[in-house]
Amino acid sequence: MIKKLIGRLLGKAGVKTRAAPLGKRVEIGAEQHGIDHKLIDERAVRVVSTLQQAGHEAYIVGGAVRDLLLGLPPKDFDVATNATPEQVKALFRRAFIIGRRFRIVHVIFGRGRDHEVIEVSTFRALLDASAADHVSGNEKSAKHELTGKSHVIDAEGRVLRDNVWGPQIEDAARRDFTVNALYYDPTRQIVVDYHNGWRDATRRVLRMIGDPAARYREDPVRIVRVWRFAAKLGFAVDAKTQAPIRELAGLLANVPASRMFDEMFKLLQTGHAQKSLDVLRAQALPPGLFPLLDVVLDPAQRDAARERFIGLALADTDRRVAEGLAVAPSFLLACLLWHEVVQRWRALQARGEAPFPALQQAVDAVFDARIGDISGRGKLAADMREIWQMQPRFERRSGNTPRALVEQPRYRAGYDFLRLRADAGEASAELAEWWEDFALGDDDERVALLQAVRERDKVRRVAKPPAASGAAAGVHRAT
Ligand code: ATP
Ligand code: MG
Repeated sequence: MIKKLIGRLLGKAGVKTRAAPLGKRVEIGAEQHGIDHKLIDERAVRVVSTLQQAGHEAYIVGGAVRDLLLGLPPKDFDVATNATPEQVKALFRRAFIIGRRFRIVHVIFGRGRDHEVIEVSTFRALLDASAADHVSGNEKSAKHELTGKSHVIDAEGRVLRDNVWGPQIEDAARRDFTVNALYYDPTRQIVVDYHNGWRDATRRVLRMIGDPAARYREDPVRIVRVWRFAAKLGFAVDAKTQAPIRELAGLLANVPASRMFDEMFKLLQTGHAQKSLDVLRAQALPPGLFPLLDVVLDPAQRDAARERFIGLALADTDRRVAEGLAVAPSFLLACLLWHEVVQRWRALQARGEAPFPALQQAVDAVFDARIGDISGRGKLAADMREIWQMQPRFERRSGNTPRALVEQPRYRAGYDFLRLRADAGEASAELAEWWEDFALGDDDERVALLQAVRERDKVRRVAKPPAASGAAAGVHRAT
């Protein structure tokens, strides 16, 4: 009764945004949640206990708790605390405060390939639009202090500064889905739940916290997240969470390319890339929202050969994720864009452009059309270009080319790409096998492999005039 009254008073006061209700703290004990501690990263536990011993609240939070409840091994662990970033940093030997708009701490363990990052974020206060500093475009740089009592919001409603700390109950209300707003205290072994996330996890339902339409308006990327989690978790989407999506999907057009790309890419790296595409297809979205995926989603742009190739690439990606292997964005992107790049590359060469500048121009044009201005674009494009440039070189199996090629640091990616082309029927299976043998072979075996190709070519030359091989290979013969 009293709580209801307080709730109503708070509501009436209207101080805080009411897109999401605050909810009520519920603690769920070990006998109920049944979380298997073997699935918990001991470093995450160490971060939590270090913070707790220093007198702070600390929990494992978000996707990791959700996955633990489902009995899945989380891919990474995030920690949430009421300690400020400075207080967190002071407690660990290797910890770095990162981000401006949204400051968090990276606590680093181990070195090199085995290093691991535990991301620690401070509980965020509810967005309080009425008390926020509203700035216009020109003022953005003036309002640069990192923390303060209020949020800073620009004319489009984008939050420029989100470093206002609050209690856990507010932090929970700012998260997207009920199953993503769970906190786990490994010390007391309790799950803390404000929005019936535990119930939804057991019923396998994806439900937005608060009023779905308002939450999508606040951040349209949440629409993509619905699709991602529906595909990844195999959850049903709650009817009210689903209802406004069709009408609001157009808001995605205003999301900065960089964020859209990140979120969309996560969708392909869920380990259920093919299923994710099915989910997207079922939405019948207007073309242009994901230019990168229009090649497989937009009926007007579909092409059988391309789809076969991309289908194989996605199946390969899903297999890699299932085996716990890394998926390089550059490789997957190289697959998605390959046919388009080849087409432009070929057209430019037909107009007399030399192979290398032609490839460069083709890559730039395709990036502009499909990806836009994202951070790290230069490095990504360079990695992809290496993979593509290796393809015509695989056709040249004489002299020193093969030895030099297998020594290249990115050979494996280039070879995997060739393998996919062979599986899709675009390159010969014999060619892919030859390179596998060559790469693994010792000196004598390599000499024999080169010899065998020479012999075969001799026979062919006698038997018939040379014919162009493989669709893509014919293009850049000149490289
Ligand atoms: P995954 O295991 O696929 O990484 P995740 O739940 O950890 O899933 P992240 O994108 O890593 O997803 O986000 C971490 C947490 O941050 C989420 O669980 C959610 O609580 C919160 N979050 C992330 N993005 C948003 C958003 N756009 N709106 C509200 N909360 C968000
Ligand atoms: Mg995560």
